[in-house]
Amino acid sequence: MHRLLLIPLLLPLVCAQTPSPISGVDLKAIDKTVDPCQNFYQYACGNWMKQNPIPPQYARWGRFSELANQNQEVLRKILDDAAKNQQRSPIDQKLGAFYSACMDEAAIDKAGDKPIQPGLARIMALADKKALAAEVARLHSQGVPVFFRFDESPDFEHSTVTIADADQGGLGLPDKSYYEGPKDEATRQKYLTHVASMFKLVGVPAAEADARAKAVLTIETALANASISRVARRNPKLTHHKLTLAEFEALTPDFNFTAYLKERETPAFEKMNVAVPDFFKALNTVIETASLDDLKSYLTWHYVSAYAPTLSKPFVDENFDFYSRYLTGAKELQPRWKQCVQATDRQLGDALGQKYVAIAFAGQSKQKTQELVTIIEKQMASDIDSLPWMSEATKQQALLKLKGVTNKIGYPEKWKSYAAVDISSTNYAADVRNAREFEIHRNLEKIGKPVDRQEFGMTPPTVNAYYSPLENNINFPAGILQPPFYQSNADMAVNFGGVGAVIGHELTHGFDDSGRKYDADGNLRDWWTKQDDEEFRKRVDCIADEYSKFSPVEGAQVDGRLTLGENGADNAGIRLAYMALLGGLDNGTISKEKLDGYTPQQRFFLGFAQIWCNNTRPESFRSSVRTDPHSPDQFRVIGVMQNVPEFATAFGCSAGQPMVSANACRVW
Ligand SMILES: [Zn+2]
Repeated sequence: MHRLLLIPLLLPLVCAQTPSPISGVDLKAIDKTVDPCQNFYQYACGNWMKQNPIPPQYARWGRFSELANQNQEVLRKILDDAAKNQQRSPIDQKLGAFYSACMDEAAIDKAGDKPIQPGLARIMALADKKALAAEVARLHSQGVPVFFRFDESPDFEHSTVTIADADQGGLGLPDKSYYEGPKDEATRQKYLTHVASMFKLVGVPAAEADARAKAVLTIETALANASISRVARRNPKLTHHKLTLAEFEALTPDFNFTAYLKERETPAFEKMNVAVPDFFKALNTVIETASLDDLKSYLTWHYVSAYAPTLSKPFVDENFDFYSRYLTGAKELQPRWKQCVQATDRQLGDALGQKYVAIAFAGQSKQKTQELVTIIEKQMASDIDSLPWMSEATKQQALLKLKGVTNKIGYPEKWKSYAAVDISSTNYAADVRNAREFEIHRNLEKIGKPVDRQEFGMTPPTVNAYYSPLENNINFPAGILQPPFYQSNADMAVNFGGVGAVIGHELTHGFDDSGRKYDADGNLRDWWTKQDDEEFRKRVDCIADEYSKFSPVEGAQVDGRLTLGENGADNAGIRLAYMALLGGLDNGTISKEKLDGYTPQQRFFLGFAQIWCNNTRPESFRSSVRTDPHSPDQFRVIGVMQNVPEFATAFGCSAGQPMVSANACRVW
């Protein structure tokens, strides 16, 4: 007995000889044949890139995808289990039935286009253009993105209240620019073929299908011409126009908005935001001038396209062929279980999410992340205080805004209930439609009500994070709070480079070229002195010019204006995280020793670079530089390193080397 009692006594002695913490650096990813001062991304990720070719089902493959893949395995187990034990709880019943219906390819193939036939017949039966508004409302209620968007948003002048929000929309190609100029002629031809193929799949005679596809392209081209660009949309002033309902209706006399709102069962309201008023004038011209038959073709195409992934194999394949194979370079469909896991996450996110966090986000995760956020927020306050170019008056406003930032970590306080959603294990397309209708209607009912800032805009398993300017909050779903972003057993240097920089990134969005135009309460209000506004612009111009020089692959040029907010957030985020690193070295929570041969500063920069290890197909680059506000991952590393003198010091780089910019940019 006594001998046994000795065992615990020995334990503290063993623990007292504190073992070296693990560095957390992914040594296998590093390509030591590369000079870090020549290309730090290649150094940090070169071997990872060699060892991780893109699987055929993907357009790109990186650390985010690895983690998303792991999360999907967890979700798959939850769903397999729910499918087998559907009667166990109301949540299992919904999840299990939805997942089973999606997995039942035999039944889906047998049904062909039957699930959408009633909807198609309804469109074809429209008697005149007056009947259009109610039909557009029905399609919007089912998530079919025709003509324009109509939903809800916090009021940009009183951000605690929800108002109706109407915006441009209605395009089938990824961006308005695809509809203009000779550069995209081949893509438009491919699109026409795709649209015609979809028409043929729903029984339109081949001779008619081409003409109908052309009518679709003509209508979409008119909508594209009237749309404002993604870069213009970064300026909130260009997408915020408060109009009365009567003023809005006057923009589109040929489209009966009263009938539209009635069909959508929208709560009554007097004023709304009309993001792009000129777009609605152009929409009216489209409706006035296009034939009823062409308008029906347009609605039919979008209806089929929106539901294609829920239909039989020919629809799934045709949809994949254009939107994935052609536009992103992916070679194969993802396995069915992955498609179904993703669909369940999209449609029943809070049901699946609560089961996910119980498994994957237990214990100290939430509290630990909160501590990190608090550390980074403190760094931002002292960073703002120390800015040499900003006046005291603007600094006070910036600090007020920082103080107003709230953070949400992991998962929402209260879960949505899907009790009212009709889900059956035998009709997948209907399940998706019912879930979409439920969510779209739930959102629309918020019009006129207080904004619920506790709601999450991403589901818990999502490997991502976001900042909401109108709510002034940062949001970290449970899915991202894992290795390689955060390794609970590793030294904090690498963690500050990973999740620390991500937290700093999101926080900075409140102060980027777009976010800085909102105040602490989330209202669109100018709190900058004229002089500080000019100084800010000068500094972000430097970043825009730097990134505009980057090209990941021939035929794809980074747009420094489109990516300005993200690049600014990356550059400031790493600075805040670096300040946290210095704090940790000061207070002894970070090992000053070399670990795995790297100093704490080197580990920090490696931790940052290695979350971005990635391989991307050329097709994907060519699409994403036009639509994605984030720079390609390699430039998210290189662009930042060039601006941070502490990086050069850490790795002993000297002036003139590629990772050391003679014209380093700094805003925050
Ligand atoms: Zn961002």
